[in-house]
Amino acid sequence: MNTVLWIVIPCYNEEQVLPITSKMFSDKLYQLISDGKISENSRILFVNDGSKDSTWKIISELAESDEHFIGISQSRNRGHQNAVLAGLMEAKDKADITISIDCDGQDDINAMDKMIDAYHDGCEVVYGVRSSRETDTFFKRFTAESFYKLMNKMGAEVVFNHADYRLVSSRVLKEFQNFKEVNIFLRGMFPLVGFKSTSVYYDRSERLAGKSHYPLSKMLALAFDGITSLSVKPLRIITTLGIIIAAISFIGVLWSVISHFVGITVAGWSSMVSIMCLLGGVQLVGIGVLGEYIGKIYLEVKARPRYIISERTWKDE
Ligand code: UDP
Ligand code: MG
Repeated sequence: MNTVLWIVIPCYNEEQVLPITSKMFSDKLYQLISDGKISENSRILFVNDGSKDSTWKIISELAESDEHFIGISQSRNRGHQNAVLAGLMEAKDKADITISIDCDGQDDINAMDKMIDAYHDGCEVVYGVRSSRETDTFFKRFTAESFYKLMNKMGAEVVFNHADYRLVSSRVLKEFQNFKEVNIFLRGMFPLVGFKSTSVYYDRSERLAGKSHYPLSKMLALAFDGITSLSVKPLRIITTLGIIIAAISFIGVLWSVISHFVGITVAGWSSMVSIMCLLGGVQLVGIGVLGEYIGKIYLEVKARPRYIISERTWKDE
């Protein structure tokens, strides 16, 4: 088979897990090649996301030991999404298909066979979806599943329980290139590109070594970014809330005028304070959400580069 596959793997401070998983990835690649599903020219591309440990050294050594391993290094840490993007953009002209996957061994690499079969059946995007989260702690499972539900409620279309394990063809990547935004949320953007897609289900296991870079605070930030960069529904919610509160206030106004004429105007301190606090809170939230969008516009207008590659393990002619 002549299909050239590039497996794109973002790595940030992964010196503990890389020596274990790199072997798993290359075994998988050799198996796919010998099964005739992909070309011998396929590659495993590690994207070093400005690691502070020996991750880049390990990647360079891997590249020297086996030509199937290659790597690029970012000039500094820019976050998971940008690291994956850098790898995909690097691969789009050289590979026919790419599969992005985390380097910690949590995603089942055996799902790749089914992904590639789906590509040969005509799908251009294949989403890897976790069929169970039994190995995650209750807290991680609860927060992660709430994350997907909240995203969809807020108008950002995402595939439930799909993270960034996905097959994308170079054709889709070339269209994706035209999505120029700097606030990127890949799992919400690929559905917008369109083309025929499908899902492949797999069991997610525990991290093989090292620790997660996504604590609750980062996950909330990702959800917030995802929603505000893909949807304007929160703005609509504020408007609706404003209309409802205005309608209720109108009843309040009628009530106070009638009370005045009937002559029962008693000084109502508690009701005044409650109304002021409520309105103050609602207004602050409203302004905060607006500010969030203005901040996004600010970043988009500057249009700074989304990633900067400082090193490659190969020399481009
Ligand atoms: N990662 C990255 N840059 C970062 C944070 C994480 O490239 O700033 C990579 C990390 O090396 C891993 C993947 O993104 O391959 C997912 O991170 P992690 O496993 O920590 O997240 P979790 O699976 O716990 O959500
Ligand atoms: Mg992980």
